[in-house]
Amino acid sequence: MEETIRIMCPNLLCRKVLGVPTSARGKTVRCKGCSTTIRIPDKPGTGKDASTSNAPAANKPA
Ligand SMILES: [Zn+2]
Repeated sequence: MEETIRIMCPNLLCRKVLGVPTSARGKTVRCKGCSTTIRIPDKPGTGKDASTSNAPAANKPA
């Protein structure tokens, strides 16, 4: 079964909602409205967030 990801164009002057197939995850698509390149994030909210930041959330003592 094919799911569709809905992603909004980050261009504030466009904000077009694009529907892309799940196979486009991790790739980039081009907005049909303004030609902005949008990156489709990998599966969100599944506990696998390896590409957010590689630094641990450590408090730096001043
Ligand atoms: Zn756009």
